[in-house]
Amino acid sequence: MSGRTRDRTCPERTCVGCRKRSAKTELLRTAVVGEECVPDPRGTLPGRGAYLHPDPACYDLAVRRRAFSRALRAQEPPGTAELLQWLRHAAQAETT
Ligand SMILES: [Zn+2]
Repeated sequence: MSGRTRDRTCPERTCVGCRKRSAKTELLRTAVVGEECVPDPRGTLPGRGAYLHPDPACYDLAVRRRAFSRALRAQEPPGTAELLQWLRHAAQAETT
């Protein structure tokens, strides 16, 4: 009965790592600030965003495929140190 409305209340994005589609709320938005790709969990940063599962495995895939530069239209591959730290933190918080 209400099966059709689910799509609308739940926008999907593609993870730049594993390329699977997920609900936007399950993905971490990242954006470029200067030359750094930074986590944007609140989705407040301006500019292009790339969506990623908050999972180091997806981060790894994205880095290896240079998906960040592509998704964010960066000339140079953006730095991802801050993003990696954020993900490690998130992963730790989940296992404890
Ligand atoms: Zn993923």
